[in-house]
Amino acid sequence: MILEGKTVLIMGIRNKWSIAWGAALSAHKNGAKIIFTYAGSENQEKIEDLISEIPNSKAYECDVSSDEKIKNAFQLIKKENGKIDGILHSIAHANTEDLRNCFINTSREGFNHAGEISSYSLIAIARIAKEEELLKEEASIVTLTYYGSTKVLTGYNVMGVAKASLEASVRYLADDLGEEQIRVNAVSAGPIKTLSAKGIKDFNKILDIVEEKAPLKRNVTISEVGDIITFLFSPMSKAITGQIVYADNGYSIMG
Ligand code: NAP
Repeated sequence: MILEGKTVLIMGIRNKWSIAWGAALSAHKNGAKIIFTYAGSENQEKIEDLISEIPNSKAYECDVSSDEKIKNAFQLIKKENGKIDGILHSIAHANTEDLRNCFINTSREGFNHAGEISSYSLIAIARIAKEEELLKEEASIVTLTYYGSTKVLTGYNVMGVAKASLEASVRYLADDLGEEQIRVNAVSAGPIKTLSAKGIKDFNKILDIVEEKAPLKRNVTISEVGDIITFLFSPMSKAITGQIVYADNGYSIMG
């Protein structure tokens, strides 16, 4: 039970296929109290139904496109739960047309939107958590990234650029927060069929290629990615900060 006595905030739950759900189940199994945030009030009932599987968990609405909304959510979370030990940022969004058209046609608005929701939001979350004194000493912040940040993957397009910026932000945030013993890392997960992944052209082909080429000859599951997030939340990973940890069955090492 490596998270015994800890409370972690999982941001970006949508349904039982979400990587955030895999992370929540793993953290719960390892002893943590779980708090969630979700984006839109229209999903409140479904989210509450889903999280009822985890005793003592609670979900709060938080749209990360607004600093005000993050601040209000964090104030309420602190009031009702006290300080917390970890935050998972499991959030991304890009306009569908920017994942369907050629990258060169990415609009200014589409570029800014993908960057704001998928990358800048991590900076806003870290800063507001610090300002609101939400985090305990030795807290751990984890985000999710993908291989398309460093390699060209047809259809990943503007999201690849957003993930590259997210990974750089992980390093700068790790430096800023290191003196307070707060760690910041990213997990670069292999492809998983989630609602967000459905927006990526030929996603099934990507899954097939990974199965064929990855050293472990299979795709990753939300449960496996969740276990790595649990490790990064835990004191077992105390010496790791500013890193991109690959959870991809080795796919990224292949030439
Ligand atoms: P998912 O279940 O669709 O989760 C994405 C989450 O982002 C949803 O809960 C979505 O909420 C939330 N979100 C979007 N806009 C938001 C906003 N303005 N405010 C707050 N939340 C917002 O898909 P997922 O695959 O698990 O994605 C989680 C993370 O893993 C993402 O960063 C993704 O890029 C990353 N990742 C995924 C894969 C993969 O193959 N699936 C691989 C590597 C990394 P709503 O749906 O309610 O808007």
